[in-house]
Amino acid sequence: MLRFAPSPNGLLHLGHALSIFANERMAQALALPLTVRIEDIDRSRARPEFEQAIVDDIAWLGVAWVGPMRRQADHFADYRAALRALKANGLVYPSFATRREIAEACREPGAPRDPDGAPLYAGDAAILGEAEAARRRASGQPAAWRLRMAEAAERAGPLTMACVDAQGCPLGALPVDPLAWGDVVLARKDTPTSYHLAVVMDDAAQSITHVVRGEDLLAATAVHRVLQTLLGLPAPAYHHHRLILGEDGRKLSKSNGAKSLAALRADGMSAADIRRQLGY
Ligand code: GLU
Repeated sequence: MLRFAPSPNGLLHLGHALSIFANERMAQALALPLTVRIEDIDRSRARPEFEQAIVDDIAWLGVAWVGPMRRQADHFADYRAALRALKANGLVYPSFATRREIAEACREPGAPRDPDGAPLYAGDAAILGEAEAARRRASGQPAAWRLRMAEAAERAGPLTMACVDAQGCPLGALPVDPLAWGDVVLARKDTPTSYHLAVVMDDAAQSITHVVRGEDLLAATAVHRVLQTLLGLPAPAYHHHRLILGEDGRKLSKSNGAKSLAALRADGMSAADIRRQLGY
């Protein structure tokens, strides 16, 4: 089983179309079904009309998929249970520093960063000072829960990811290094999960055997492999496809001028035009 897993925070654009076609190509090559997962853990940004637009766009592109469509927001209890299991193993801890406080504490140019370029979390005491960290711990305010990555990586042992080519043919196992990510957030203050925890739980729940997604998520696979190992989940094979870049050289997005598929359709482009343009 393969999956296309968009977030319903906006309209799909050419970058999403490429991901849909890459999934379709591998699904056809392996004669496996493709399903859809709505990654809507960010309740402040997810909108039902975007979810409907996603379903309409996939149909317009002419890509077949099988249900049931999974919505992450329907599975918060599962993510809570996984977090409880990690808590019981002493592998997660609460943290209170805000994203802004972490960024401010890491302003020097040499400050360590994760593979996405975000400052590495150094611990509440280092960021806030011991007294303020203790005050927040005692205050009962909501916490984010972070993975003790050093312990987690040690418990998991050496990790690899199984890589496949665009047709799903095995390319071998690539060593991955979750330590580069530091103590990642597994549950946010406002949501009982994070992308990393939800994606490994859902890939297992949906029996995903092959993950096809953009190469911006290649490094994050190290975090997914450590979580899969700790939670006893099966490991899919991975293919990370090229990205379409915007005018600013960054991954195509609404903010760097991506036209939505709906807008391209309104301009008179056909699904066949889009397939041709993307090389499918
Ligand atoms: N929801 C993620 C995105 O829209 C994709 C996550 C994944 O494929 O693992 O970029």
